[in-house]
Amino acid sequence: MATSTSIPVSLPMPRIPRTRRSPQEIADASPNVNQRKVLLAAPRGYCAGVDRAVVAVEKALEHYGPPVYVRKQIVHNLHVVSELEARGAIFVEETDEVPEGALVVFSAHGVSPAVVRSAEDRGLQTIDATCPLVTKVHREAVRFAKNDYEILLIGHEGHEEVEGTYGEAPHATTIVNNPEEADTVQVKNPDKLIWLSQTTLSVDETMETVRRLRERFPNLQDPPSDDICYATTNRQVAIKTIAPKSDLVIVVGSSNSSNSVRLVEVSLDYGAKAAYRVDFAHEVDESWFEGVSTVGVTSGASVPDVLVQEVLELLAEYGFGDVEEITLAEEDIVFSLPKEIRGKLKEAGDDSRALGGRGTPTTSR
Ligand code: SF4
Repeated sequence: MATSTSIPVSLPMPRIPRTRRSPQEIADASPNVNQRKVLLAAPRGYCAGVDRAVVAVEKALEHYGPPVYVRKQIVHNLHVVSELEARGAIFVEETDEVPEGALVVFSAHGVSPAVVRSAEDRGLQTIDATCPLVTKVHREAVRFAKNDYEILLIGHEGHEEVEGTYGEAPHATTIVNNPEEADTVQVKNPDKLIWLSQTTLSVDETMETVRRLRERFPNLQDPPSDDICYATTNRQVAIKTIAPKSDLVIVVGSSNSSNSVRLVEVSLDYGAKAAYRVDFAHEVDESWFEGVSTVGVTSGASVPDVLVQEVLELLAEYGFGDVEEITLAEEDIVFSLPKEIRGKLKEAGDDSRALGGRGTPTTSR
């Protein structure tokens, strides 16, 4: 029997940084003490795909009982992964680390057909928590490859989502990592060519990549609908509004969260004087507040709001207690749970799907 390996997650407890001067003394010493404010982006944090994936693991733990294996981090957030681990989830890198016949959940980022086959070969029970918006891109890849198109997949090589989409049609797909690669990528038939993309990219950078591709390949087709998802787009739109008014932007999110990292880049591109990403409030460095009047705050699509609230509490200690929420879009999308879980909930008479929206349960237990 294969042994299982959990992904080590080192999770320091949130704490307020130790300083020689107290936060109040630092706030009082600021020349801008009466003008300090926070612009809080909305939408921010959990998207519908993350909510669905996290609730799927929670419900699997509840109804199948631990251990529940999860291939890769269910979503790219240290806090979420750590909370689920504490409740009995075991995160593995590959299905061959899961004992034969056990239950494994595929993460929100999606998997290639080869991974599905490998799970079948091992007799694993599977729950597919792939975000439906990632599944949509997979289907596009399959459909266009079947129709003899060559696919230029704009995305970051090595990212789990890109591995999954690429794996749908590897013979027909070439990954384009950035605008520079658009200048050099080679294709077989420039007249039967389509671009698809990872869901969590910078909208502006992707459009620049497409512009450069189209300069070389005028017959390049667009995807049938946007592949960059609504949540990625909305969070970028919100920070684009806030960044030019901010001396400092703090993005809450993990280092492997593509959309969180993009929010830092977009903040700087749109005029924030400085922008940093933190997993937890205690990572905020007080030196960032030098000469700062306005702090923009946002979070990636896999971040429970409690982590943002902890950053806001810390900011208030430093004199940034005045918080204005800037709302650029309303989001009310909720995806139904994976079918395997829906069946289990029905059997058990569990109609609590509504619980868990927007990151509440994982952060309150
Ligand atoms: S960021 Fe977009 S594609 Fe990714 S899980 Fe959320 S909704 Fe789905």
